[in-house]
Amino acid sequence: MVDLSRKYDVLVIGGGNAALCAAISARRDGASVLVLEAAPKFYRGGNTRHTRNMRCAHDAATDILTGPYTEEEFWEDLLRVTGGETDEELARHMIAESKDILGWIVEQGVRWQPSLGGTLGLGRTNSFFLGGGRAMLNALYLTAERLGVDVLYDAEVMDLDIADGMFMSAAVRRGDGRAAVTASTLVAAAGGFEANIEWLRQYWGEAADNFLIRGTPYNRGSILKMLLEKGAQEIGDPRQCHAVAIDARAPKFDGGIITRHDSVVFGIVVNRDAERFYDEGEDVWPKRYAIWGRLVAAQPGQIAYIIFDASSANSFMPTLFPPIEASSVAELASRLELDPAALENTVGRFNAAVRPGTFDHTILDDCRTEGLTPPKSHWARRIETPPFYAYPVRPGITFTYLGTRVNKQARMLMKDGKPSANMFAAGEIMAGNVLGKGYAAGVGMTIGSVFGRIAGREAARNGRN
Ligand SMILES: Cc1cc2nc3c(=O)[nH]c(=O)nc-3n(C[C@H](O)[C@H](O)[C@H](O)COP(=O)(O)OP(=O)(O)OC[C@H]3O[C@@H](n4cnc5c(N)ncnc54)[C@H](O)[C@@H]3O)c2cc1C
Repeated sequence: MVDLSRKYDVLVIGGGNAALCAAISARRDGASVLVLEAAPKFYRGGNTRHTRNMRCAHDAATDILTGPYTEEEFWEDLLRVTGGETDEELARHMIAESKDILGWIVEQGVRWQPSLGGTLGLGRTNSFFLGGGRAMLNALYLTAERLGVDVLYDAEVMDLDIADGMFMSAAVRRGDGRAAVTASTLVAAAGGFEANIEWLRQYWGEAADNFLIRGTPYNRGSILKMLLEKGAQEIGDPRQCHAVAIDARAPKFDGGIITRHDSVVFGIVVNRDAERFYDEGEDVWPKRYAIWGRLVAAQPGQIAYIIFDASSANSFMPTLFPPIEASSVAELASRLELDPAALENTVGRFNAAVRPGTFDHTILDDCRTEGLTPPKSHWARRIETPPFYAYPVRPGITFTYLGTRVNKQARMLMKDGKPSANMFAAGEIMAGNVLGKGYAAGVGMTIGSVFGRIAGREAARNGRN
C-alpha cells in the first residue's frame, strides 16, 4: 500500500521511459521515490509503449550494432536535422552521456535485439529493444518495484503548488477525490501536449481537428501548462513537433507504429483536389519520412492519398490497413471520392514526365521526371499497371517540442533565469531543449533516458541537501 501521508524524497510525475529512468536512478541513489502515472496499469507508459529503438553514440560495433557511431557524428546528424535549432551544450552533453546509457539500461533489465529491417536502415546507429517498448517498460517497472519505488496508477496530477520556483506539493486524483502529495523534489516527466487537441488548435487552428495522435491520449500537457504558468521558463516553438503521414483510417489515439506509411517514394501523393504538392523522391526515406505529417497538415482538409500501381505493391512494408484497390485510375478516384478526371489528368501528366532510368530505392537513383512541377527527383516510375492502389493519409502527431527549459543537471530554469530550487524535467516535456525542429530516429528515447537518469540522480542529491 502506498502511504500518501508520508513525505517522499522524490516525486516523479509520469509513467514512461523518462519517468522510470528518473525513478530508478533516484532510488539507486538512496532516495524514497513515488511515481504517479495518470493512466491505468494496462496503459501505463505513455508513448514509450510504442517505441522500438534508441539512438546512442558508441565507439565500436557492439553485439547488435554494426559499427561505431561517434559523438561527433551523432552531433552532426542532430545539427543537420534541427537546422542548428538546438542547445549545443545540452545536446553535446546528452550525446556524451548516451554512450553510457547503452550499458546502464541493460543493468536495469532491458535487453537489446539486432536492428529490425524495413524502412529506416538504423543498424549502425540505433539499438532496438527486445520485444519493443512495452517489454522495455515492463523491465523498467519490474526493476523499479524491486528497488522499492512506489508506483500509483490512475493517478493523474491535477495541480502543483509551486512557490518562488520551489515545488511544495501536488494534488493527485484518487477515485472521485483528490489527495495531496508532498516531496522534497519533483521530476516532471509527463510528456508533451500532443493529445490535447484544444491546445494544438491554438497554434494550428481547425486543422488540428483532423490530426491523429499516434500515441497515448494521456499526454495532454497538463503538467507542462502548470509549470509554465507557475514560473518555469519555456523553450521551443509550440507548432514544432514530430509528425508523420499515417493511415487516415487509424484510431484518433494510440494507433502506434503499424499505421505509418512508408510507401511515398514508390508512388505519387495527391491532395483532395487530386493534385500533387511535393517532390515524393526528394531524398532517401529515412531523411524524409518525418516531413510528410506537416506536408499533409498544410493540405485542404488535412488529407492526402498515396497512389501507386501493381508494380510497387510488394516493395514496402505492409501496414495495418490494406490499400484501396481499383482496376483503373478513374475507378480508384471514385473510391477515394476524388474527381476521376482530375486524378487521371495528374497521373497522365506524371507518367508523361517520367524519364527512363534504373530503379533502386536504396540510392538516389536516376529515375526522375522532367518538366513537371513539383518534380519527382528519384524513383519516378510510370503508374500504369493495374490494379491501382491508394492509401489515404492524415498527419500523425508523435510528440510536441514545446517544453520547460533545463540545464545540464536537468534542473528547470525559471523565467528569471535562475535554476529552480527543487524541480527537474526529463523526456518529451523538455525535448525542445534539444529538438528546436526536425528529428533523428531514436532521439526521443535518448532524451528521456539520459535526462531521466540525470534528473533522478540530481533530485535524490537535492532532496538530501
Ligand atoms: C508510435 C510511436 C513510435 C515511436 N517510436 C520511437 C522510437 O522507436 N524511438 C524513439 O526514440 N522514440 C519513439 N517515439 C517517441 C517516444 O515515444 C517518446 O519520445 C518517448 O517515449 C517519450 O518518453 P517520455 O517518458 O517523455 O513520455 P511518455 O512515455 O509519453 O510518458 C509520459 C507519461 O506521463 C503521463 N502523464 C501525463 N500527464 C500526467 C499527469 N497530469 N499526471 C500523471 N501522469 C501524467 C502519461 O500517462 C505517460 O505515462 C515514438 C512515439 C510514438 C507515438
